[in-house]
Amino acid sequence: MQRYSAFSLVRHALSEHKHWRRAWRSPAPKPRYDAIIVGGGGHGLGTAYYLARHHNLKNIAVLERGWIGGGNTGRNTTIIRSNYLQEESQGLYELARKMWETLSQELNYNVMFSPRGVLNLCHDEHELKGLRRRVFANQARGVRGEFLTPREVKQFCPPMRVDCPRLPVVGASLQRNAGTARHDAVAWGYARAADRLGVDIIENCTVNGFDIRDGAVRGVRTTRGDIAAPKVALVPAGHAGVLANLAGFRLPIESRPLQALVSEPVKPCLDTVVMSGAIHGYVSQSDKGELVIGGGADSYNGYSQRGSPHVLAGSIAAVCHLFPQFRRLRMLRSWGGVVDIAPDASAILSAAPVGGIYVNCGWGTGGFKATPGSAFAFAHLVAKGEPHLKGRAFTLARFATGRLIDEHSAAAVAH
Ligand SMILES: Cc1cc2nc3c(=O)[nH]c(=O)nc-3n(C[C@H](O)[C@H](O)[C@H](O)COP(=O)(O)OP(=O)(O)OC[C@H]3O[C@@H](n4cnc5c(N)ncnc54)[C@H](O)[C@@H]3O)c2cc1C
Repeated sequence: MQRYSAFSLVRHALSEHKHWRRAWRSPAPKPRYDAIIVGGGGHGLGTAYYLARHHNLKNIAVLERGWIGGGNTGRNTTIIRSNYLQEESQGLYELARKMWETLSQELNYNVMFSPRGVLNLCHDEHELKGLRRRVFANQARGVRGEFLTPREVKQFCPPMRVDCPRLPVVGASLQRNAGTARHDAVAWGYARAADRLGVDIIENCTVNGFDIRDGAVRGVRTTRGDIAAPKVALVPAGHAGVLANLAGFRLPIESRPLQALVSEPVKPCLDTVVMSGAIHGYVSQSDKGELVIGGGADSYNGYSQRGSPHVLAGSIAAVCHLFPQFRRLRMLRSWGGVVDIAPDASAILSAAPVGGIYVNCGWGTGGFKATPGSAFAFAHLVAKGEPHLKGRAFTLARFATGRLIDEHSAAAVAH
């Protein structure tokens, strides 16, 4: 693989950038692999990378029905934080957050991690109590977090209005080492690094059936032919339920549209991420200058990658309450993704009821931030058949035992 560096940039500039090599190959599927990953989003590509890097599995394929990163990985608003309420979530998300800090160096690909801080606002006494509880829970377990008074919020984020009569800001939590990253780069960086380790990335290849005999998987049926493998890892986000159905088991997942939108680009005016769960809106500014805005998921199940206009209107109204000056901006485009929501708003990293099948889903509205940690822990599970320490609470068994990981308060607004 060609190494990316300032030196290679200069060298290629001299030949007018005509000689860059393809970042990853486009191989035809082989008849057999040691492991197949279904889903070429960040979690699937990352799983393939860590399997090849740490578990010495080299004969791996990632099967993607469209193009890599074309699912939620390339559709999200890129917010990264780890200030969840429950100990299990804090462990997994904080593992991921730490991995973001060095991911660009590890992959030799700039994922543009920007720890610009994430503010979670509250607008009434009830929310304030919940947020304080979360900050204390974070501090107790080594996750960075602090509580800000309305005055401190205004000092930290001067463009925001904290005294709106309808929605006054009565406090906020701040995670200073949280922030954003470039979503496409995450998919591309993992794809390139996995390809270098021999992983076959096969796009335009839909998995539409499984070869299951004697309770164990033997391979998958795809639009590009049957492929044998003793291990199949499902990482299809919103389509987890569909694939589980094809394999003959059910998952406690609802798939719902979640939308986002961006404004026309403007000069730098917002250097942090602002989220409000109560009014279902959040906003940050991309490096291009666009305001990236999102809100809550649609309230019905569906598989379309677009959602209801009134949800978008609500998110825009929420952001305009907090930043009246943004009312003058025009919106450039909006889009949707299909998110996979579990009953306790936590992920599922688990062996499936069919031998050799593993599932990674349930990240719902907030799985981008978890990408490196989820992929790392899931690769461990797929390779060894045993959950990783940080992922062991996230198995399907919790829905039978009742040991749920309730993150509704921390994941209330989208992501
Ligand atoms: C609008 C929006 C905003 C969001 N904002 C944030 C945020 O700010 N922060 C955050 O942390 N998270 C956010 N999320 C959630 C986050 O995007 C997801 O949790 C995360 O990207 C999931 O990654 P993934 O790799 O599991 O899924 P995906 O990237 O969706 O990858 C799954 C892949 O599986 C493929 N696939 C499905 N079925 C098949 C099949 N039968 N055969 C082959 N391939 C198949 C799909 O084509 C897809 O590419 C947001 C999501 C959306 C939609």
